[in-house]
Amino acid sequence: MARKQTNPREDAAPAAPPSNGKIRLATVWMGGCSGCHMSFLDLDEKLLDLFAQADLVYSPIADLKEFPENVDVTLVEGAIANVDHVKLAKEIRERSKIVVSFGDCAVTGNVTSLRNRLQVDDLLTKVYHEGPGSVPHGDDDDIMPALLPRVIPLHQLIKVDAFIPGCPPDTDRIWTAVSALLAGQPVEFEPEMRLFG
Ligand code: SF4
Repeated sequence: MARKQTNPREDAAPAAPPSNGKIRLATVWMGGCSGCHMSFLDLDEKLLDLFAQADLVYSPIADLKEFPENVDVTLVEGAIANVDHVKLAKEIRERSKIVVSFGDCAVTGNVTSLRNRLQVDDLLTKVYHEGPGSVPHGDDDDIMPALLPRVIPLHQLIKVDAFIPGCPPDTDRIWTAVSALLAGQPVEFEPEMRLFG
């Protein structure tokens, strides 16, 4: 039988059960396509088991504006691609006991980092000022958060405690990780669950 592999951050401090008996769980959408969150929602009836043990205190599916204090576990989808991501990632690290890179974009940069071969100015010109539906340069150019020169995976900006590979991670993989974290255990994956893509 294949030996169970341990996540590179198996020494991560497990989430301590809060006083109300529920884990304070957050999910965050950085530079990704939301496919990891769609896979999270595919947990279907397991979501009932999850939310019997956890309160969702921040998530794109809950439309909360401020990342809260005292979060036990935060799943981060997507790579770090702009200045808003940098600010939010640092807040997450300060306010979360356990931070998890959720999906290949957070773990490696993946699809989001494909633009790294281009200069930011060339990229923006190509996409917004030369392509179909293009708009002229103008006062609205700074309405979007400034892009970083290069997209980076989450762990290159902040300490990450566990990694869930996959594009997107399938529900078995997500449940394996989430149920371990809820139980205060390190995240461990069978070898076949440690693949990218
Ligand atoms: S890992 Fe895949 S599914 Fe998840 S955000 Fe990136 S491209 Fe989308």
